[in-house]
Amino acid sequence: MTATETQPAAQDSMFEVCNPASGLVVGRYPNRTPAQVEAAVARAQEAAADWAALGFADRGRVLDRWRAEIARGRDDLARLMHQEMGKPISDAKLEIVMALEHLKWAARNAQRVLGRRAVGSSLLTLNQASSVEYRPFGVVGIIGPWNYPVFTPLSSISFALAAGNAVVFKPSEYTPGVGLWLAEAFTRVLPARPVLQVVTGAGETGAALCRSRVGKIGFTGSTETGKRVLAACAEHLTPVLMECGGKDALIVDADADLDAAADAAIWGGMSNAGQTCLGVERVYVHTAIYDEFLGKLRTLAGDLRAGNGTAQIGPITMPKQLEVIRRHLDDAIARGGRALLGGSESISGQFVQPTILVDVPEDAAAVVEETFGPTLTVARVADMDEAVDRVNASEYGLGATVFARRDGVAIADRINSGATSINAFVAHATVPALPLGGVGASGFGRVHGPDGLREFTYAKATTRQRFPSPLALTTFRRSARVDFVVDVLTAALHGRIG
Ligand code: NDP
Repeated sequence: MTATETQPAAQDSMFEVCNPASGLVVGRYPNRTPAQVEAAVARAQEAAADWAALGFADRGRVLDRWRAEIARGRDDLARLMHQEMGKPISDAKLEIVMALEHLKWAARNAQRVLGRRAVGSSLLTLNQASSVEYRPFGVVGIIGPWNYPVFTPLSSISFALAAGNAVVFKPSEYTPGVGLWLAEAFTRVLPARPVLQVVTGAGETGAALCRSRVGKIGFTGSTETGKRVLAACAEHLTPVLMECGGKDALIVDADADLDAAADAAIWGGMSNAGQTCLGVERVYVHTAIYDEFLGKLRTLAGDLRAGNGTAQIGPITMPKQLEVIRRHLDDAIARGGRALLGGSESISGQFVQPTILVDVPEDAAAVVEETFGPTLTVARVADMDEAVDRVNASEYGLGATVFARRDGVAIADRINSGATSINAFVAHATVPALPLGGVGASGFGRVHGPDGLREFTYAKATTRQRFPSPLALTTFRRSARVDFVVDVLTAALHGRIG
């Protein structure tokens, strides 16, 4: 038996993965049944005890070797990502290195963040030595999307493993090969135990993982699926990390570096064919520089092309997403918007050419709903108050970008989102020590940084009585004298405010 259980049995139902650009079949994988998912979780439970017992330092060494294994196999892995979901190979390699940065951070910092530490006692509990530590759940189930098939699942898997959990990972049905590749690389460095397993399949396999006896589910995907995951996890009161969709905005103030802002808007909106949870979808621009900025955007986007080979923009991965993009574009135009570049007619096969929409009403689908395509809506605002109000009007709150010279921090502070990057697109997701996650319809819980490590643990508090308390409080033998002292202390400690 291999740790990743990759070998399908003769009776397994299989599904095919097709390259979105060519339509050619690039892999066949088993649809794991609920019983097979249960079996994987049971194997993980056995492996989890040994993995936790290894301790932070030895686990860190395994994770470092896994990191090196992934780094050495990056050409292979990037090719697989390209084949399965279509992103350009150089973008795939960029994604890999970003994921490895977080893996390194998790391995290096787990002990400092999660290890047992003493905490101070209060006046009434001076006789107690107190400590807290963060313990792994045992087995964590990770459900991942296809759009960043390495970065996104590793953002959870790396931190769950570093915290001492075994992991059962359900990759997207569009990128199962990438998921298996990562787990097989792990098995090469730790063949003895199935500490990281993959269960391939469609939504039902993910649902079975939610209903299994895992200690926690780390979900990354759309808000709609997230609600189903939450409902399934409710059956066993399984805690959940929800990394869901977004409708991120980029704000450009009058004094911003317009070249840098335009470059960030185009990369943020159109790289990965616009299929980025943190991607720029809405741009709000100060009226004083609106026309000049629009000209820069148009020039930059005009140089881009979606297509095969050397094109900077790959295909739309999910066929059904093309209809969503078309609906958003048609609705925007029908409601008075204009396509400065691209538009519905620029959708051909699986490719969508760069599209910039202006004059789109704020309640149009293209402004309100997540658009997984290389499209931007750009709107003029009178001032930064209006920009912030419009950004905050979204039900999503994943990230945001602000370009401003003087007031960047002040503007960023008023945005309701999990993070805001000033004068750079999505920098917050690349700094390993910073948490990543959203508010509102973008979910809850955090990956990355100390919060991302604690996300896959529970806090365990311990006290040790060092000597009997001079004030015996919690006993039926408590005396009237003790009650009197408590009364005096209550007044002295808490009653003298205001
Ligand atoms: P989906 O919600 O369609 O799927 C996410 C994962 O959930 C897939 O593995 C999917 O399997 C699985 N799944 C589907 N149905 C169920 C179910 N009933 N129970 C359990 N699991 C299920 O998202 P996409 O894969 O299309 O990913 C794109 C979405 O992910 C976007 O909304 C994007 O914004 C979001 N995202 C959020 C990120 C963040 O950090 N907040 C990062 C990256 C993406 P299958 O694919 O087999 O259907």
